[in-house]
Amino acid sequence: MATGLPEPEPLRALIDALRSLPGVGVRTARRMAYHLLQHDPEGARHLADTLQAAVGELRHCERCNSFSQTPLCTTCQDPARDPAVLCVVETPADQNMIESSHGYKGLYYVLMGRLAPLEGVGPDQVRFAQLLQRASDGQVKEVILATNFTAEGETTAYYLADMLRNQGLTVTRLARGVPSGSELEYVDAGTIAWALAERR
Ligand code: ZN
Repeated sequence: MATGLPEPEPLRALIDALRSLPGVGVRTARRMAYHLLQHDPEGARHLADTLQAAVGELRHCERCNSFSQTPLCTTCQDPARDPAVLCVVETPADQNMIESSHGYKGLYYVLMGRLAPLEGVGPDQVRFAQLLQRASDGQVKEVILATNFTAEGETTAYYLADMLRNQGLTVTRLARGVPSGSELEYVDAGTIAWALAERR
């Protein structure tokens, strides 16, 4: 930590904790801490409470691996969903994007990550075995790979396609109308609906 005025221990600990957020360095963490303590102590308490509740009450859905309050999430329990189609996404944010396109009525599997060989993230870290088990339930006929169109997302899709085809499953990929290098989270709903309809 940069030298300067000695910080009281609870303040130092708060700054350290905020640094665990992605993209937050020590300067930003310090600014956040000052803001919460000086200008928004009520918001700070609320943040602490909701964070504690979320960490304590959320788990991973046993079927789709997304966040859920119950062993099976509401999407997986929805009888209106088509159990023959499984859409694989990297994050719950990507799942939300696909949902908001209103073009999809199947089920999901959320990887909660992607292959990133350069960062040491391999198939074991992303728990592909769990996806393989999910896709082999006898009901799933088609798996749609909706990982991001980034280098890591493409690597992940390539690897998964191989693994799932070996199980006799039909594997499709979102159509390439989604710009290369893009993350689904930032693609508009219309484009996603098109990419789903045009998957191959
Ligand atoms: Zn689920």
